[in-house]
Amino acid sequence: MAETERTDRRIKISKAGLIAAALLACAILAATVFTVPRFAGVFKEYRGLRQSYKTAQKELTAAEKANAGLSQKVKEMTKMKTDSEKLSKQVFELAAKTEQDIVDGKSNKKICYITLDDGPYKRGQDFLELFRKYDVKATFFLTTANGDLLPDQADISASSVYPDYLRYGHTIGNHTYSHDYGDGGLYSDTGAFMKSVEDQTNFTEEATGGYVPRIVRFPGGSGMAGSRLDEIEDSLRERGYTWVDWTVDSGDSWGTDVANATLIKSNVLDASKEQDIMVVLFHEWSEPTLEAMPDIIDSLRGSGYIFLPLFPESVMVSK
Ligand SMILES: [Zn+2]
Repeated sequence: MAETERTDRRIKISKAGLIAAALLACAILAATVFTVPRFAGVFKEYRGLRQSYKTAQKELTAAEKANAGLSQKVKEMTKMKTDSEKLSKQVFELAAKTEQDIVDGKSNKKICYITLDDGPYKRGQDFLELFRKYDVKATFFLTTANGDLLPDQADISASSVYPDYLRYGHTIGNHTYSHDYGDGGLYSDTGAFMKSVEDQTNFTEEATGGYVPRIVRFPGGSGMAGSRLDEIEDSLRERGYTWVDWTVDSGDSWGTDVANATLIKSNVLDASKEQDIMVVLFHEWSEPTLEAMPDIIDSLRGSGYIFLPLFPESVMVSK
């Protein structure tokens, strides 16, 4: 009897267990049906996030690298500026003394200030190389009228070559930002002229890491300013600028049918017979000038000329 009762109870328990198991199975099934897709969505989202994180990390590393490069560039530019200023100071003190000795008749030296207008051009690099070879210093009057890219090599940015002029010890002059001397241009309004000078200064400072081009050359020469000249000169003076025209026109801008290397050479060498200190006008875009330059340098050097970069204190510069 006891045996039978036990068996019955077991059967009873088994039935209840079956029902419970069925209910549990239903619950698991429901959970699986509703939860698994949601879980898969979350997992997918996680994978997406992880990918974004990886990309961001890569970008951060690249940015850190670029930043290090930029810092290095800024450091180099700052050092170049300091070195250039130190060297310029020494050169200019010596140049001022030499000028004074020449003016006083105490020196048989002569000075030629080579000036090249309208750059930067790609050809400017050829002039820099030539001047380096001949150990000549010059003055480059730069403008931004040609746009942000070099007109004779459009894949090079104009600002990127500015430091080159300083690297070789030349002077960068201010030939205004717009170089626009037509009707309604620079000379129609003193404010417009000064704005163009300041814009060019800002551009030069940014391109070189702080160099201020203090010597202005009027586009077309100061004669182009006409009756406004006095007012413009006052404004330049007030803002700490100096300005310079030229005592010799090489003739390289007289037109392509006229301006050849022979004419340019004879213009400069003829004028040199009467000038112990001269400021010669050339243009950075001129191929005949590049061709004539070695002979001009050799001949003038043979006559006792030294070649210096212009500086604001020079007797040739108006203040
Ligand atoms: Zn010009």
